[in-house]
Amino acid sequence: MGRKPSVGIIGAGLAGLTCGTALKGLVENIRVFEKSIFPGGRLGRFRAGEYEFNHGAQYFTVNNPLFWNIVSAWQTEGIVRPWDGWIVELQKGQIINSDMATQRFVGVPHMQMIAQCMARQCDLVTSANISELERQGDGVWRLFNERGDYQGAYDILIVATAAHQVADLCRSIPMIGELADKVDMTACWSGMFAFEHKLNIPYDAAFVLDSPLSWISRYQFKQSANDADCWVLHASPEWSQQYATSFRGRVMHAMLDAFWEATDLKMHKPASASVHCWKHAAPINPIREDSLFDERHAVGACGDWCTAPRIEGAVLSGFSMADRIMKHVRKVYP
Ligand SMILES: Cc1cc2nc3c(=O)[nH]c(=O)nc-3n(C[C@H](O)[C@H](O)[C@H](O)COP(=O)(O)OP(=O)(O)OC[C@H]3O[C@@H](n4cnc5c(N)ncnc54)[C@H](O)[C@@H]3O)c2cc1C
Repeated sequence: MGRKPSVGIIGAGLAGLTCGTALKGLVENIRVFEKSIFPGGRLGRFRAGEYEFNHGAQYFTVNNPLFWNIVSAWQTEGIVRPWDGWIVELQKGQIINSDMATQRFVGVPHMQMIAQCMARQCDLVTSANISELERQGDGVWRLFNERGDYQGAYDILIVATAAHQVADLCRSIPMIGELADKVDMTACWSGMFAFEHKLNIPYDAAFVLDSPLSWISRYQFKQSANDADCWVLHASPEWSQQYATSFRGRVMHAMLDAFWEATDLKMHKPASASVHCWKHAAPINPIREDSLFDERHAVGACGDWCTAPRIEGAVLSGFSMADRIMKHVRKVYP
């Protein structure tokens, strides 16, 4: 057997990590680069003093049989569990529906744990913002970070970031860059509020109608032993877009006002209040391609923007990417 190729993966969200773990052992050297200090991407975990929140993805659902198998393995490892929370639909302070039928899963003790467990099986470099890809005469790709520091050379590159970042990095690979550039993303303001005492809210989470908010959820995995009550609020895509450039203080107050209106509770002063704007939260028009691979340049791209704006979409895209790379490796490195 000839030499095995090296693979560089840009982005340690679920798509990049799924691809990296699936390729392990099949290629010589796989390194995953992540610009943030933690893996997980939009499986965000936010800490404010003693309080912590899942401020990105809240839960996931499972439709595809392959994803079922993966989720079963995650359950066996104890990194996810079914979420048996009471989830309702709210309209102007009234519960108008109760959703007990959908099977949802959450990470244990938080969503980011799924990525952390996968990252342990990868050669992960954090705080590495890859800004330039340079192709050498022999076809090998050199990577550089935003300061111009050399980050290694790889036979095969996979860009596993959100669509706008793929478009930026893959300008010289039109088959990928041009498709990624066509994908539009919604924004999402997340509000993270902790209250010293439990609020009088009987349900665990709610889809909110006719409100600046679209989702509210009690965060159940907080470390603090006291009686604190932590809530994550997500503003609707339309509202988030409208307020995308507003001051944080203004957004914070508007989200809290909407929370009291949605829950029909009188105002309580939060012990901790923070907001975060996900400027690229979810792809509106995924390309429905599973993943992309330009064989001539040996560059691939994957992520939820290829498939569906969900955790399941990101994982399946990462698997599809690994499958394409394996076929390419068998052909080019027999
Ligand atoms: C607020 C919010 C709520 C959500 N709620 C849900 C939900 O309830 N259920 C659900 O199933 N899905 C939900 N989602 C969607 C879900 O989180 C995503 O579909 C999924 O996490 C996308 O994974 P990904 O790997 O494709 O991309 P990402 O998670 O975005 O990963 C891409 C990674 O690439 C890194 N990166 C980018 N550029 C570079 C670079 N130049 N160099 C190095 N690294 C780079 C990023 O830092 C990031 O870690 C939600 C998303 C948001 C934002």
